[in-house]
Amino acid sequence: MGTLNPLSPAASGDEQMTVLLADDSPENIQALAACLHEQFQLKVANNGEQCLELARRFHPDLILLDIEMPGMNGFDVCQQLKDTDATADIPIIFVSGHTSLASEERGLELGAVDYIFKPIRPAIVKARVNTHITLKRQRDRLAQLAMRDQLTGLYNRHYLMEHIGQRLSRCHRHGYQMAALMIDIDHFKRINDELGHQQGDDVLTSLGTFLCSYFRTEDLVARLGGEEFLVVLDPCPDGHMMDKAQQLLHAVEQLNPAGTPITISIGATSVKKDDSLGSLLKRADDALYQAKQQGRNRVCAG
Ligand code: GH3
Ligand code: MG
Ligand code: MG
Repeated sequence: MGTLNPLSPAASGDEQMTVLLADDSPENIQALAACLHEQFQLKVANNGEQCLELARRFHPDLILLDIEMPGMNGFDVCQQLKDTDATADIPIIFVSGHTSLASEERGLELGAVDYIFKPIRPAIVKARVNTHITLKRQRDRLAQLAMRDQLTGLYNRHYLMEHIGQRLSRCHRHGYQMAALMIDIDHFKRINDELGHQQGDDVLTSLGTFLCSYFRTEDLVARLGGEEFLVVLDPCPDGHMMDKAQQLLHAVEQLNPAGTPITISIGATSVKKDDSLGSLLKRADDALYQAKQQGRNRVCAG
């Protein structure tokens, strides 16, 4: 399922995968469900429009899609799913009574991963679905490893590099403000030195979990490395940035992550029109440096 929640469980292979069945014939739905219900969580759509709606809402791991349906046909549904960012990556298998090679070709050209001919043969359906679910699991796992910091489960620097561009262009297009807070734990080395590296790790994990729950889901929380985190406040209207940063500073002072009192320093900066990740991090980093210079446990704007 979707990976928007920063602390969603790793694609470990033991969570149940969701398959969306889209077919206007109740008999076909029943036949497919009989093959798959023991292994998968199933969602059912009786027409093309409903299929699009359920795909957006549940972001299933696989869609089995009929072609002949009243209203939108399966090809149109497939095209629309592939043209929409939020659903483009969902694998689609056509299940159709159209047994012509031309129809199969068209389905695969539209981006479907497979094409199954009706009448439904349970062994074929199970085998092909299992193949594509296995591939989906592996893809999710790789994405998880590439995007997430292993210790805290937060997004990592690589993810930021890949996704900050999209965020920046969206905020420029719609004309709203974003801000970034670079957060660094004060004297973190002492925690390692005095309480041990494991305790240091526990503090980082606990602070990461806190930051995720503290900020809204629209905001982006990442671990930049070491004891440094970045929060992108998206959106953050003019004038709110320093208040939010100050509130965070006080919340962390009260937090005692893993039973250890800590303070943080914050470099805050509003996102500018031509920012790259590099320029944004540079300003935030300079501001953070000022906060450290001025005695730590404070916010500086850059
Ligand atoms: P300052 O207030 O100036 O930020 O001081 P500091 O001690 O927090 O900063 P410094 O950069 O001197 O030390 C950071 C330490 O963080 C050193 C490094 O060993 C430790 N560290 C980096 N990554 C990890 C990690 O994943 N786990 C643990 N336990 N420690 C880490
Ligand atoms: Mg530090
Ligand atoms: Mg540091």
